[in-house]
Formats: sequence, structure tokens, C-alpha cells
Amino acid sequence: MTRQARKRHHKGYTHIKKKYRTKRKTKDLDEIDEDLKPQHAAKLLHQKVDFDKPGSAQHYCLHCARYFVDEGAMKAHFRQKTHKRRLKALEMEPYTQKEAEAAAGMGSYIQPKKRAMITQQPTQQPTQQDVTMNDEAKDQT
Ligand SMILES: [Zn+2]
Repeated sequence: MTRQARKRHHKGYTHIKKKYRTKRKTKDLDEIDEDLKPQHAAKLLHQKVDFDKPGSAQHYCLHCARYFVDEGAMKAHFRQKTHKRRLKALEMEPYTQKEAEAAAGMGSYIQPKKRAMITQQPTQQPTQQDVTMNDEAKDQT
């Protein structure tokens, strides 16, 4: 925030101030857009166990770039307004240099398209039942 911004803003505009704060900085939308590409997404959704991250980095929301302590917390997050708002924000294709040039008269301007955003599917973990069934199969052989 510049000096100007500090002077001419109402103190209640916390949502604007928060945008420029770096203390709890999360990924920007364009960075997340990069993450949504299949090869990056797979890597982020199947991270190695990292004890420094919440929930050992096993529960990650791609769209919000957030870690959750467990499956339940992540599922609760998927139903939240913050998550839905984020999906909406990601629907629009990211702004590119090409778009800027087209708008300035270099090439024909094509409006950014909207795309469908779907919440990632929760990772399939072997349930207790499957494990016991496998054990029985081993016994038979
Ligand atoms: Zn989310």
C-alpha cells in the first residue's frame, strides 16, 4: 500500500488492505491457473508427507491453494462460500499479454471465455473393508 492509498481510504476497507498484505500471502489466481493444468494438479494432489504443513500436506484444495488437517475439514471447505467464490473467480480465463495487445488495436479482440470449474474429487483411499478383503485373499493362496 502506498502512502496515497493509506491516506485516502476508509479504515474499514479491510478487504482492500488484505489484498496487499504479505503476511499470509497465498497464491494469486494466475498461479492457481497454472496449477490447474493436469500435470501440476496431479503433483499437488499427491504430495509427499510433510509434517510442517497442516495435515501433513495430504489434503489440499487446488483452487484455493490451501491445506486442510483432514478429509472432513476439506469436504466442509468445499461447501463453503469462500471456495464457491473462488471457483467463480477462476471461471474466467486469465488475462494475458495477447489480450492487452488485442485491446490496444494489435489484432482482433476476442473476449475471454468462461470455463467450467469443478471441485476436485476427494482422493480415493482404501477403506478398512478393502484391506481386510485383501488379507483374506492372501490367506487363500
Ligand atoms: Zn477451495
